Amino acid sequence: MAASMAELFCFCADPAGAARATVEVRFISSLKGKGLFATRNIHKGETIFLEKPVVSSQFLWNALYRYKACDHCLRALETAEENAQRLLGKSCRVLPHPEQCSIRKDLHQHCPHCQVAYCSAECRHSAFEQYHQVLCLGPSREDPKHPLNKLQDTWRNIHYPPETSSIMLLARMVATVKQAKDKDWWIKLFSQFCSKTANEEEEIIHKLLGDKFKGQLELLRQLFTEALYEERLSRWFTPEGFQSLFALVGTNGQGIGTSSLSQWVHACDALELPPHEREQLDAFIDQLYKDIEKETGEFLNCEGSGLYVLQSCCNHSCIPNAETSFPDNNFLLHLIALEEIKLGEEICISYLDCCQRERSRHSRHKILREHYLFTCSCPKCLAQADDANLTSEEEEELEGEGETDDAELEDEMTDV
Ligand SMILES: [Zn+2]
Ligand SMILES: [Zn+2]
Ligand SMILES: [Zn+2]
Repeated sequence: MAASMAELFCFCADPAGAARATVEVRFISSLKGKGLFATRNIHKGETIFLEKPVVSSQFLWNALYRYKACDHCLRALETAEENAQRLLGKSCRVLPHPEQCSIRKDLHQHCPHCQVAYCSAECRHSAFEQYHQVLCLGPSREDPKHPLNKLQDTWRNIHYPPETSSIMLLARMVATVKQAKDKDWWIKLFSQFCSKTANEEEEIIHKLLGDKFKGQLELLRQLFTEALYEERLSRWFTPEGFQSLFALVGTNGQGIGTSSLSQWVHACDALELPPHEREQLDAFIDQLYKDIEKETGEFLNCEGSGLYVLQSCCNHSCIPNAETSFPDNNFLLHLIALEEIKLGEEICISYLDCCQRERSRHSRHKILREHYLFTCSCPKCLAQADDANLTSEEEEELEGEGETDDAELEDEMTDV
């Protein structure tokens, strides 16, 4: 089932074949659930597949802080120079090689009713066809009493940066079903995403919303119902159903990051230049990033999250053979092979960043349990199974300083 649904959102990098020719989803065990397996040999560096999310949404604080992105595909809408100037907090810096900026303002469009921005006519059309008819605020865009605005406001007040999720991802799921002719098809599609037990759901939501999560979840449910109730989805609006929906997004949501500036830097890196000019350009870019870091800290990208059918089947390993990235400056996910992968081998990504992967098995397990509720049994963890107790004490001491927070996890998720 997963594979056939996935085909609709998935494109093989090799136009001669379909994604299905590269990978397949297999059921592993009731403990591990599903996994993604290679159906042919894959070379190191190869793009295993490209995938569009079934729904995605920019984070709400990120949008409020004027990280301008396409409301549908999250493509950054500022030119690289505007992006740099905003992040620097001043408008005097001019970027060399402006022709390397990929932003095409002449293609940008707005919804004629509510004025949200899109990178292209295609995105405006896709959004309108899938969910925007239900979610368009029309002239009420600035009205704080509109139920959808109340919902977003409440969400922002509960979930401060660094952001890991958005209530609008749930809203887009409901709106998609509301607008769909074949509602069952979509309900079935959403039901494929990994689900958890009630206890695990609570743990995930606790992590997302903090200690007062029960009251806040109930508040959100009431606002969500007021804004979006749909008879066919009545279960999603019950306390249990809303909790499950929330946990689904918490467990399966993949971070997305886009940036005009980083696209410009990649294009500049690829330029063939005389050595002297190359040195100058590299020095300019280094200085630019240093200045931005001083002014803005780590928040460089337009950020959001999305639900990906195939990618969400990809299990974790502390020695991953693949990684996700967003090199097109939009929500199109690329899964890239980090190693040679043989036919029949499981394809795994890492939910930990590279620093976390270097830590002991004990520490890795602690992070994975807290954030993702599972115990890793990858080859590295199995090989280190015996030294767990030897290192755990020193590790406990280190934990105070080296503690992982959501910010670090989030950064890794949205690297572009
Ligand atoms: Zn777009
Ligand atoms: Zn609109
Ligand atoms: Zn592991």
